Amino acid sequence: MSAREGSLEAPTRHPLDWQNPAFYDEKSCFDEMERIFDICHGCRRCVSLCGSFPTLFDLVDEGTTGEVDGVDKKDYWKVVDQCYLCDVCYLTKCPYVPPHPWNLDFPHTMLRAKAIQFKQGTPTKFRDVTLSNTAANGKLASIPIVVQTVNALSKSKAARSLGEKVIGVHKDAWVPEFTSKVFEKKAKKSAPLPVRHGERSKGKVAIYTTCYVNWNEPGIGHDLIKVLQHNEIPYLVVEKQACCGMPKLELGDLDSVADLARQNLPQLAALAREGYAIVTPIPSCTLMFKQEIPLMFPNDADAQAVKAAMCDPFEYFQLRHKDGLLKTDFKEGLGNVSYHIACHLRVQNVGQKTRETLEMIPNTAVNTVERCSGHAGTWGVKKEFHEMAMKIGRPVFRQMAEHPKANNGQGGDPDHVASDCQLAAHHIEQGMAGKADGKVAHPLSLLAQAYGL
Ligand code: SF4
Ligand code: SF4
Repeated sequence: MSAREGSLEAPTRHPLDWQNPAFYDEKSCFDEMERIFDICHGCRRCVSLCGSFPTLFDLVDEGTTGEVDGVDKKDYWKVVDQCYLCDVCYLTKCPYVPPHPWNLDFPHTMLRAKAIQFKQGTPTKFRDVTLSNTAANGKLASIPIVVQTVNALSKSKAARSLGEKVIGVHKDAWVPEFTSKVFEKKAKKSAPLPVRHGERSKGKVAIYTTCYVNWNEPGIGHDLIKVLQHNEIPYLVVEKQACCGMPKLELGDLDSVADLARQNLPQLAALAREGYAIVTPIPSCTLMFKQEIPLMFPNDADAQAVKAAMCDPFEYFQLRHKDGLLKTDFKEGLGNVSYHIACHLRVQNVGQKTRETLEMIPNTAVNTVERCSGHAGTWGVKKEFHEMAMKIGRPVFRQMAEHPKANNGQGGDPDHVASDCQLAAHHIEQGMAGKADGKVAHPLSLLAQAYGL
């Protein structure tokens, strides 16, 4: 084994061997966890990232030998349960990821353990599967009569207490409202504009809406359309799209991820081959198509074509800007914006394109916070993890509430609170305890506002 301290090359990632029966062999997975945990015990760089690492290090320190071999293997599950697959340890911290010979992939080893756990079944499986059925939940909850009832129940303290006891959703966790004004039914059609390809950017956009924008906050999608229209970029909304599969991936339900990918890939790949940039306004969904699905289907031409065409909206706008094709005729400054970069955007390795775009707007000061909010998809609303989710988010809540330019440079409350991940933004709003009320806006909505749209 090499003693070299860290890899000098860019991280690479192995395909996920999920179709191999050996992937689900518990002993082999535990052996790999033991190997990785031993390296992590000697390193400990990631101690502040999430709950997995402190849980592991406490188990080691309190074990019989003070080493990983003193930890009861049954307790490995405690480490697995604390991982919500944000990927930050892999892509921003760990020097031992491939091509380093130590070949360490902490998140995908946790994913493998979750996949074994999912096949074995857990006491919370019903709750976990129900929460991860985002498209089915959205379709049901957006039916006009049902929607009022669902939204009223989510605000009722009594119903939330009952919900915590019966289905295990923490009574204090922020949960999204549903809407009957579903985005895909209301989205305005594009004007027949000419396609202007740039050197770096494609001249037409396919919007992969995402479940959240479709059934929970369609305004984000409408604002994206307004910005595209303003910049004379023709677009279409991808029809009959299925969930990206991220909530299923987080559970380790890889068969469902594959089913969803098979529903989405043919039409997305056709759009990619027709020359569309595919833009996705929720970073976790973008990451699924950029990273996880291509790693699950490394030899699938459709998965690779979609990967190449998939863009974060602000990544796309910055490419457009470099091509001289993004308008900068802003009408309104935004003031002091506290902006949080979602983990699933950080690990896309595209840089801080949202910040760069917001900073192009005159009279706008961006306070950028680059740390995990703790929300982590459905993980942070679960009864057993919500308090940890709030604890992980505390430094973010504090930094978001202290905009350095507020109060004439003394520091204080921002004018706007934004995150690329709108679920994280609402989790941050909850953690800011009143300081963000009425101030949460998705960066796409802020951009539309700055354009005066
Ligand atoms: S992927 Fe994220 S949650 Fe999982 S161990 Fe790494 S930093 Fe922690
Ligand atoms: S994942 Fe890598 S950087 Fe993090 S504690 Fe383990 S060995 Fe260290």
